[in-house]
Amino acid sequence: MKLERVLIPRSVRGFDSEAECFDVFIKNQAIARIQAAQSAIDSVVKPSGILLPGLVDLHVHIDKTQVVDETGAAEGDLFKAIDIMARHREGWTSEQIATRMNRAIQEAHASGTRAMRTHLDWPRKERPASVAAFEQMRDAWRGRIVLQAVALTPLDVFGDALESEGLALEVARLNRMCDANRGEKVLLGAFVYRNTELHTTLQRVFDLAAKHNLDIDFHVDEGLDADARGLRAIAELTINNAYQGRVTCGHACSLAVQPRDEALRTLEICAQAQIHLVSLPTTNLYLQGSWHETPVERGITRLIEARQQGVSCSIATDNVQDAFFPYGSYNLLANWALGIQAAHLAPALDWLDSITTNPAQAMGLPWDHRVRVGVAVSQLLMADASSGYELVSNPKIDLH
Ligand SMILES: [Zn+2]
Repeated sequence: MKLERVLIPRSVRGFDSEAECFDVFIKNQAIARIQAAQSAIDSVVKPSGILLPGLVDLHVHIDKTQVVDETGAAEGDLFKAIDIMARHREGWTSEQIATRMNRAIQEAHASGTRAMRTHLDWPRKERPASVAAFEQMRDAWRGRIVLQAVALTPLDVFGDALESEGLALEVARLNRMCDANRGEKVLLGAFVYRNTELHTTLQRVFDLAAKHNLDIDFHVDEGLDADARGLRAIAELTINNAYQGRVTCGHACSLAVQPRDEALRTLEICAQAQIHLVSLPTTNLYLQGSWHETPVERGITRLIEARQQGVSCSIATDNVQDAFFPYGSYNLLANWALGIQAAHLAPALDWLDSITTNPAQAMGLPWDHRVRVGVAVSQLLMADASSGYELVSNPKIDLH
C-alpha cells in the first residue's frame, strides 16, 4: 500500500529531507519506506493530506469531566470552581468516575490521542475513589492509549509531614503497579498559587519525589497576579535538586502579566531546569481575564518567548465540561488550533510538536512520536488538510 503525496510536517519528522511531500510505502502494517513525492516540483498539485503521529495530551482531568450540568460553571472564578468541585467530589463513587473516564478516553482516542496524562484530585493522604477507576481504565485501554496519572494536591498539604509522607507512599505504590516499559507512570503533583512558605513547602515536594523516585507535575501560577512567582521557584529548585527533565509545569498564566525582562529570566532558568511547560488555552481563556467587561488580559502563557529560550512547550486540553470550563471536548487537535489562534503561533505546522513530540518527551514515552520507517500504521493519523491553514480551520483527523 502507498500513501501518495502526503505532507509530513518537519516538526514531527524522524528523518531528514528538504522535501515537503512524500510517498509513504506501507508493508506489514508499518511504514516500510518514505521517499520524496515524485511530483514535488509541481507546486500546483496539493498534498493529499497531512500525515501525523498519534497525539499526546499532557494535561487533562478525566475524574471530574462532563459534570457541568450538575455543578454549574464558575464564570471566570478559579477559586469558586475549586470550591464547587470539592463539594461535588464528596458524592463521587468509583463506578461513576469510571463511566466518566471511559467516555473521555473514548472521545480522546477517536480524535487521535494515543497517550494522555490525567490529574486526579487528591486533597489528603487517603487515596481518592478515582484511583480505582483510573487503574481499571488504564488496564482496559492498555495497547490503545497510554495513561498516566498525577496526584493533584494543594501545595499547603505538603507543609504537614505526616500527611505528605502518607500521600507520597501511596503514589509510589501506585507507580510501582504501572507498566513502565509502555510509558505508564503515576506522579506527585501540587496546585501552587501565591502560597506562603512557598520555597519550604516546594522543597518538601522535591524531597518526597526524590525519596520515592517520582516525577512531578505542577499546576502553577494559574492567575493574573504578577506576584505569583511559583514557576521561578520551581525552576530554581529543580536545578538545586538535580531534577532536570522530570518536572512539568502547567498554566504559568502570571508570566504573561509580569515585566518582560523578569519573565524572560524565569524562562531562561526553566530552560536550564529542562521544565516541560504546558499551556491550557481553553480553560485559561475561560477562567482568566475580566467577566465584568470585555477581557483584555487572557492568561495564555508566553509560549513564543518560552520556545525562543529553549523551553519545551506543550499545548493540552485541561478541563472539559466541568465547573472550571463548561465547554470543550477531548479533540486535542481542536484545542491546539485554538491555542495557535489565541497565542499567535505561526507557522502552525511548526507547533505540532506541542501535541506530539514535546509531550511524549515530558511523559517519557517509549516512542518519541516522530514519523519514520518502522512506525505502525495504528500509531499514525491522516488529516484531510493540505496546509497548516486548513488544519487549523478544520482540526479533524481521519482514522481510516
Ligand atoms: Zn489542570
